[in-house]
Amino acid sequence: MNFIDLQEQFRRYRPEIMAEIEEVLGSAQFIMGPAVGALEGMLAAHTGVRHAIGCASGTDALMLGLMALGVKAGDEIIVPDFTFFATAEIVAFLGATPVFVDISEETFNIDPLAIEKSITRRTRGIIPVSLFGQCAELEKVNAIAAANGLWVMEDAAQSYGALHWGKRSGSLTRIAATSFFPAKPLGCYGEGGAVFTNDDGIAATVRQLLNHGQSERYKHARLGINGRLDTLQAAILKVKLRHFEEEMAAKRRVADAYRAKLAGVVKVPTVLPHNVPVWAQFTARTDRREKVLDHLKSRGIPAAVHYPIPLHRQEAFSCLELPEGAFPVSCMVSQEVFSLPMHPFLTEADVDAVCSSIAEALR
Ligand SMILES: *Cc1c(COP(=O)(O)O)cnc(C)c1O
Repeated sequence: MNFIDLQEQFRRYRPEIMAEIEEVLGSAQFIMGPAVGALEGMLAAHTGVRHAIGCASGTDALMLGLMALGVKAGDEIIVPDFTFFATAEIVAFLGATPVFVDISEETFNIDPLAIEKSITRRTRGIIPVSLFGQCAELEKVNAIAAANGLWVMEDAAQSYGALHWGKRSGSLTRIAATSFFPAKPLGCYGEGGAVFTNDDGIAATVRQLLNHGQSERYKHARLGINGRLDTLQAAILKVKLRHFEEEMAAKRRVADAYRAKLAGVVKVPTVLPHNVPVWAQFTARTDRREKVLDHLKSRGIPAAVHYPIPLHRQEAFSCLELPEGAFPVSCMVSQEVFSLPMHPFLTEADVDAVCSSIAEALR
């Protein structure tokens, strides 16, 4: 059994993917070839935004977003304490200060009530992360931001395609960033990402920033980066996006089976009634995690821990001198979480094997 199964996925889509790759190689338009624009159109239509802008990774997408929003040294940006490192990394990388906030135990996402307490004169914006494929409480975060004159940028790296009150992740905030890292819900065969926005000005700025700040060829209006989406990756993503909804439906069936079979055995993830997640991870909790992980390993079942160390405990942020235990939910959850195999090609027998092995471990 695989944790995710990109080999089976390739086996199924191989003719379509090879045809797309052939077309790019034949055209030799490797940089900003036609597949990039074609994919951007498909992403914008699927997400329900005016602008989808392909870029080189999810990290670049977040960074380009912050640059377009004018984040600078001295600014404070509110981020959850429990997420992948990149969310806060790019804030500090631009010289601003990540202000960590605790999460909700139910959803693993940023706690809106805790946000309000962390706003200061220096706060410029909020980066809610839609972790494990379920949207953060974006409506609530938007309301808090509006009341305090802040922007919101969703870190949608794990939630491409998820729904929140019937709208797509990526379409609910001023700007949003996603990742096409292979293991993400919509993954390519290398690095890739995208920025989403309905704001024409932000979109134009992001397009310049990702191409060395060029307004026209060899005219540089501002400092930027080389953050373009690779044409081959765009071509591959066109195929993956065509199969996306059927894959998500299959993953939802797996998640429902896990939730039914593991209820009462471990703490299964909560899905809020207005959310439809894309299950980037199926992450459960137990205070006997080592037992479960050891037993799964002995049965040859892969599992992982997302994430074992909260951001405020990372050495890279030791300079912020945050007190131990500052974020109790994030600390507790990081000790208890474990993620199970999750992909569209898992069988009922696979799910049964995972669940019975967890039950055995805790018996
Ligand atoms: C994967 C991820 C990123 C970074 O995306 P890359 O494409 O790997 O650069 C950022 N934030 C979160 C929450 C992620 O899961």
